[in-house]
Amino acid sequence: MKIGFIGLGIMGKPMAKNLVKAGYQLVVLDLNKPAVEELKALGAEVGTSNADIASKCEVIITMLPNSPQVKQVVLGENGVIEGAKPGTVVIDMSSIAPLASREIYAALEEKEIHLLDAPVSGGEPKAIEGTLAVMVGGKKEVFDKYYDVMKVMAASVVYVGESGAGNVAKLCNQVVVALNISAVSEALILAKKAGVDPDLVYQAIRGGLAGSTVMEAKAPMIMDRNFQPGFRIDLHIKDLNNVLETSHGVGVPLPLTAQVMEIMQAIKVDGCGVEDHASIVKYYEKLANI
Ligand code: NAD
Repeated sequence: MKIGFIGLGIMGKPMAKNLVKAGYQLVVLDLNKPAVEELKALGAEVGTSNADIASKCEVIITMLPNSPQVKQVVLGENGVIEGAKPGTVVIDMSSIAPLASREIYAALEEKEIHLLDAPVSGGEPKAIEGTLAVMVGGKKEVFDKYYDVMKVMAASVVYVGESGAGNVAKLCNQVVVALNISAVSEALILAKKAGVDPDLVYQAIRGGLAGSTVMEAKAPMIMDRNFQPGFRIDLHIKDLNNVLETSHGVGVPLPLTAQVMEIMQAIKVDGCGVEDHASIVKYYEKLANI
């Protein structure tokens, strides 16, 4: 099976590499030429346009920043929709607004092209290991048919419902991650200001109820002051925008998420938008005069 792969960034590049390793033939594209060259060196073909890739592949995976980029690549001029034959499947693994997924799904279905919204969680380390968590919306029969392709990149691939449901699950994930990083930051700042070594506090509490995947990933980064992304603040702001738009749409107040959004906006103003979301701690350092 030939697979198209569009978007070879922090996440897409290792995901595409894992598909090559698993023996799939890839046709790739990205605006960033060095990433394309890296895949080419591993044996991938390079597409000349999104439509060109779609004309050559049964499945096209997209891993792009947000809704506008996915809409442009899939539905725009020379986009996937122009090259794809009926029966082609687009697996969009980007994190985008559920409403945008449903719009793209409807436009593609008119041409008998199917869309799965299949965003991921786990960050760059799990993308490299091929142990991501994938949450999928769309037609169940399409999910079943392409489960094995997604499983190459993931430890878990879970069907959550109709089109857009995958991205609703991803928004829920992003709420938990954002609030958890803030909680870890507050705890480590408290330890420091109270005169106890934050690393020893981390060692003491990580095995208890407070322990979490977020704590394991982010507490060491915070203590080492390593804010290299990873997952950029800018992308998390994008996700929380999608969260708040969705929650306002369904009439659910999310007061803590709204507050963490303000914290992220504040550190973005300080020039941290391109840093890892672990840099949320800088907001608290400022408040605590550290
Ligand atoms: P990234 O910015 O590193 O990668 C995006 C890639 O898309 C870039 O290489 C860019 O050149 C390419 N691109 C943009 N527009 C394009 C276009 N029109 N045509 C072709 N290529 C185009 O971002 P990332 O961190 O890899 O994230 C990708 C998606 O995955 C985002 O939706 C993000 O929210 C989500 N995500 C990221 C992480 C993480 O830890 N980085 C974790 C889970 C989910």
